Amino acid sequence: MTTLVTGGAGYIGSHTVTALYAAGHDAVVLDNFSNAHRGVVDVLRSLTSPDLAVVDGDAADRLTVEQIFDNHAIDAVIHFAAHKSVPESVDVPLRYYRNNLDSVLTLAETAADRGVKRFVFSSSAVVYGTPPALPVTEDMAAEPQSPYGATKLMCEQILTDAAAATGMQTAILRYFNPVGAHPSGRIGEQPIEAGQNLVPVVMRVALGELGRLAVFGDDYGTRDGTAVRDFVHVMDLAEGHLTALTADLGEGGCRVFNLGTGAGTTVLELVAAAAEATGRPIPYEIEGRRPGDIIESWADCTRAGAELGWHARRSLPEMLADQWRFVSGCADGAV
Ligand code: NAD
Repeated sequence: MTTLVTGGAGYIGSHTVTALYAAGHDAVVLDNFSNAHRGVVDVLRSLTSPDLAVVDGDAADRLTVEQIFDNHAIDAVIHFAAHKSVPESVDVPLRYYRNNLDSVLTLAETAADRGVKRFVFSSSAVVYGTPPALPVTEDMAAEPQSPYGATKLMCEQILTDAAAATGMQTAILRYFNPVGAHPSGRIGEQPIEAGQNLVPVVMRVALGELGRLAVFGDDYGTRDGTAVRDFVHVMDLAEGHLTALTADLGEGGCRVFNLGTGAGTTVLELVAAAAEATGRPIPYEIEGRRPGDIIESWADCTRAGAELGWHARRSLPEMLADQWRFVSGCADGAV
């Protein structure tokens, strides 16, 4: 099977490409390197195949995508390419609507025209907004609280309608909080655009690049007062895409799946686990609540277990140890 992987030089995409090759599949990567370093390509080829095809281009550009289909026998599409920062999407919403919607329209249209039978889409737990209950199930109302979340929900609607009309089996994967890195320590999360995800910031504190971590709010009604998230290893997510490529979703089936561990971790529990994994202190400072922050979110992954046979296998200490191996290797100039 040859899969077109848009955003395949990015964080989750690059790990998924390694999982595809480990399972004996081929991939063609399409990335415009707006949020990935070009050096990732050589590392990715060394982890997969020297022949891995990488196209430097835009997923929203119909001509570029058509040429990929002309040059390769594409069986499936995994569409990661998107802008993904919640706060940035509030500042520049049109940039988010333009990139995220144009790219899904181009990909879905071309894939349908070329008779592709399988489409996998990167969605996010942000579509739920503040969940009405916990754990979060796929059937709960989706009420995104940011333009970024709104783009993801709109993409889901576009793909649902396209699947019903064309018969293209479509898996919509709502990731919770991806963490960790490839066990080789050679690829990991290395954004160009300033990221605000918790674990990369914690790692910068461990490295000494930042003096302390700002913890936003310790007076929520949670175990220790800090926010709760469902951290999931990026290699577990990568393997989730493999199962979504081959599971029977029914004719024209379009199914939504939560991908998380099903367990919530507070910010302070994460800080303690990171100090353990890195062997470094993680000084932190409590600051006020950040407007718009969701207090608690963790996934019910029953459906992914039942229909995809997928379960997250890796623990929080493993996620943090793998991420530390990657970032400390980068800091030493090894990558
Ligand atoms: P990433 O920024 O590391 O990867 C996205 C890649 O897409 C980048 O390499 C970027 O250069 C590329 N890209 C963006 N727009 C493009 C375009 N128009 N054409 C071609 N390439 C383009 O992000 P990630 O963390 O790997 O996220 C992958 C997907 O998963 C995204 O759709 C994101 O919204 C979704 N997601 C991420 C998280 C997370 O916390 N990382 C959580 C939930 C969902």
